[in-house]
Amino acid sequence: MNQPSKQASVIVIFGATGDLAKRKLFPSLYNLYCKGVLAEDFAVVGVARRQLSNEEFRSNVHDAVIHTACMDKDDKHEEFSSHFFYQPFDVTKKESYQDLKGLTESLDEQFDIPHNRIFYMAMAPEFFGTIALNLDSEGLLEGDGFNRLVIEKPFGHDFQSAQKLNDEIRQVFSEEEIYRIDHYLGKEMVQNIEAIRFANSLFEPLWNNRYISNIQITSSETVGVETRGGYYEKSGALRDMVQNHMLQMVSLLAMEPPGSLTTEEIRSEKVKVLRALRAVNKDEVNDYFVRGQYKQGEANGETLPGYREENNVDEESNTETFVAAKLMIDNFRWAGVPFYIRTGKRMPTKSTNILIEFKDMPMNLYKNESGKLGPNILEVHIQPEEGITLHLNVKDTGDMRKTTPIELNFNNKQKNNMNSPEAYERLLHDVMKGDATNFARWDEVALSWQFIDPISVAWANEKEQDFPNYSAGSMGPDAADKLLEKDNLHWWSSPKE
Ligand code: NAD
Repeated sequence: MNQPSKQASVIVIFGATGDLAKRKLFPSLYNLYCKGVLAEDFAVVGVARRQLSNEEFRSNVHDAVIHTACMDKDDKHEEFSSHFFYQPFDVTKKESYQDLKGLTESLDEQFDIPHNRIFYMAMAPEFFGTIALNLDSEGLLEGDGFNRLVIEKPFGHDFQSAQKLNDEIRQVFSEEEIYRIDHYLGKEMVQNIEAIRFANSLFEPLWNNRYISNIQITSSETVGVETRGGYYEKSGALRDMVQNHMLQMVSLLAMEPPGSLTTEEIRSEKVKVLRALRAVNKDEVNDYFVRGQYKQGEANGETLPGYREENNVDEESNTETFVAAKLMIDNFRWAGVPFYIRTGKRMPTKSTNILIEFKDMPMNLYKNESGKLGPNILEVHIQPEEGITLHLNVKDTGDMRKTTPIELNFNNKQKNNMNSPEAYERLLHDVMKGDATNFARWDEVALSWQFIDPISVAWANEKEQDFPNYSAGSMGPDAADKLLEKDNLHWWSSPKE
């Protein structure tokens, strides 16, 4: 038998028959297995309500990974699935936990695992507190190995509910044992923001209000709510995207350089940004935030339904499917620099990108074709492309007083000749290594909710009379453009425009 690795663990997935497990967790674990990260000393226990045998569960796992290929190696779908076990589970019944304890301990023996446990919560958040308390009371957390709790979003639906959830899980798990997933933090180019900033003397001296005019972050989806109308009605784009992913990207762009690249140093710097975010009170919401909801529209010759026509959506729904905002960070580095964010469903492209627009030259000696000098812009492509583009001006070949814009491009996928690992693959590996850097600490979650809550309360109290206000397949409502026009700026969908 192989020497057991220190990190070898039994991974318990709560909600193992669900969509997240099938689409993200099993393929990511398979990739880690193919790369040798998981070796042979691991076991996965799937628990969910359904009555399944081990064989039926393995067959589901097998089907979920069958189209995922092992690079450079023979595929190992059968061997991989043989590490999976299933237990029908009722989260409220003590016996379920006692059975789970027996099963995980027998897997320790079978796979030579030193009583390490990863508990992955891939089910509705209302069960997390109950599960945590029962894991403790039924003795599943005893033993010499580590216990880690992985929690999916949404982490509450406002500050109060997030705090309640946190209090419940903290009765059992310490902060260091809790891994709150924000899958954007697992993306290659989100992780690259720190390297671009702190490993390039070209950028860091300019990264402040003396040289940067504004920063724009756009995260657009082409899909509507699909089958998740019920969930989305209660969430909306503000809770689903802004409270977590968008604010995490803002923190990484705005944080001070950490003293070192340790988990706590990095997270502490990110938290300071959230503390410096200018609070928006209910009377100011319209100055800083724009909400949108899609109506019927067209894309690629296809008619797309409006949000209110989707399944499980109220036909008078007040839920926003689009948000644009102007965020101000009131500290020395960023005073006066707006961070504009926008995110929505049913937009023309599925993409996330960040644009850092530098200030104009103090005096324009040169002009381009349109009679102006275009700004320098650094673009960070988060997805689907991964890379950076630097927009510069160079002399026009014909006329020595004219400039022409050029782009310096770096494409990460081309460089590595392969796709970067999926965010979930990276994050699962981090949990196994015990590295919580790319997970949200409680104070980050708390501050983000405290920032968001006045806006969601104002929107809930005041129905948007203009809804629906943007066509499916468009870039959102006109008000999102006006938000920047007030500041004499505009969204750069592509700086070439
Ligand atoms: P899902 O509805 O597809 O699956 C839920 C799972 O929980 C199923 O396995 C079900 O059997 C199990 N379950 C529900 N009630 C149970 C009970 N009382 N006892 C035992 N098992 C029970 O949900 P999903 O899409 O897989 O999402 C799971 C969690 O992950 C949710 O919190 C969701 O918000 C979050 N999430 C999902 C995605 C995604 O891509 N699906 C992305 C981000 C976050």
